[in-house]
Amino acid sequence: MANSPDGTDASIRVRFCPSPTGNPHVGLVRTALFNWAFARHNGGTMVFRIEDTDAARDSEESYEQLLDSMRWLGLTWDEGPEVGGPHAPYRQSQRMDLYKEVADKLVAGGFAYPCYCTTEELDARREAARAAGKPSGYDGQCRDLSAEQIQAYEAEGRSHIIRFRMPDEATTFTDLVRGEITVQAENVTDYGIVRANGAPLYTLVNPVDDAAMEITHVLRGEDLLSSTPRQIALYKALIELGYAKTIPAFGHLPYVMGEGNKKLSKRDPQASLNLYRERGFLPEGLLNYLSLLGWSFSADKDVFTVAELIEKFDIADVNANPARFDLKKAEAINADHIRMLDVASFTAACEPWLKAPHANWAPEDFDQAKWEAIAPHAQTRLQVLSDITANVDFLFLKEPVEDEASWTKAMKGDPVALLTTARAKLEAADWSDPESLKNAVLAAGEEHGLKLGKAQAPVRVAVTGRTVGLPLFESLEILGKDKSLARIDAALAKLAA
Ligand code: GLU
Ligand code: ZN
Repeated sequence: MANSPDGTDASIRVRFCPSPTGNPHVGLVRTALFNWAFARHNGGTMVFRIEDTDAARDSEESYEQLLDSMRWLGLTWDEGPEVGGPHAPYRQSQRMDLYKEVADKLVAGGFAYPCYCTTEELDARREAARAAGKPSGYDGQCRDLSAEQIQAYEAEGRSHIIRFRMPDEATTFTDLVRGEITVQAENVTDYGIVRANGAPLYTLVNPVDDAAMEITHVLRGEDLLSSTPRQIALYKALIELGYAKTIPAFGHLPYVMGEGNKKLSKRDPQASLNLYRERGFLPEGLLNYLSLLGWSFSADKDVFTVAELIEKFDIADVNANPARFDLKKAEAINADHIRMLDVASFTAACEPWLKAPHANWAPEDFDQAKWEAIAPHAQTRLQVLSDITANVDFLFLKEPVEDEASWTKAMKGDPVALLTTARAKLEAADWSDPESLKNAVLAAGEEHGLKLGKAQAPVRVAVTGRTVGLPLFESLEILGKDKSLARIDAALAKLAA
């Protein structure tokens, strides 16, 4: 299919077609990402379609969230909501006329038929088939109803759904990820495409739109593998009726496993995209990690830019084995992306966390100049941007956070003696030079037989409230002489009490 010397193919058209229900989750993002990377790698077209035909479950709020998430991630689309395109509209709720027209033609052409079975009748026959050890899908009862039978059912006041007639032969197709797959006819029985109330089902509208939008590759989760033989059969009917030209290629992305080696479900808190956003994952970091769920860049490189991902991504390299979602690895990769930012971008990226209302400091306590001075020291320390708060809060709080565990850990031996000496030496030091501050604490330690590490611990806890943090002497310089010494005085008072 490659039509250019570098192996790419600009005729490729893929789609991302979520239903607007609930919050976006990582499985959904992984699907969007693989479609997008495949389209961008090939110079093809990314179609974004909203499958909102289930009025009971779909919501406008979820629709807005989907768009917002895609924008935040930088997963751009060439056709779809807001950008439009030659196959508009891209919301299925606005395409109902087409589905009605196709359903009518499928029935008229004998590809589909009305089924009058009630739920109770279907259940009873399914049970009986199971008990007899026979396949329990739809038994084809209404396949060949005569006009009289239909009339009789209508007279009885029965309603009907529309069922698609599956051919009585096995379906074979070559999955882009899994290779050749054959499904026997008895495992795929006739299935509903329109509800009794006339509402078209996913089984109809999804392939009808894939055909109308000339989708060449369907890349989606493994959970949809079982609908593929049905959709291929429907596609063949659409081709006969003139609604489709060719059957697209299908590729089913592997399951994502969560904790305890169970499939990551969209209800799993760990699966929520918003969680990663709120914790301060960078879009590039998250995309980098999610791309590794079923794909790999190379044996020795798992941190890469989005540009590198696009350059390298090929659906042929996707692995069929289940992928494991590993939060630690996701955070480590994100940390690398935080380091890759230039300082100005890093500084700006953290600000929403620092300027947001905090439990213990007000937005007006935030100090831009101090923040910009400390930011370069913080950049190598964070896994997620929200970590910034605990690293720099000492600059904005009226008093350092109170952390009894840190206090007890640092205030060992004779902290009063040490802090008194350190305070005197710091008082005389040059506060524009962290080296001078360090020498002051070093000298205080020497007087009390303490190495620098032991000597600086009480100073750190007195000033920042914590035992670990950013480089201490730069921190002191940025906080300033008056505040730093006042905090040491406060600690001495506390020790005396
Ligand atoms: N709306 C379907 C879903 O969200 C699309 C599935 C597909 O890609 O075919 O599951
Ligand atoms: Zn029936």
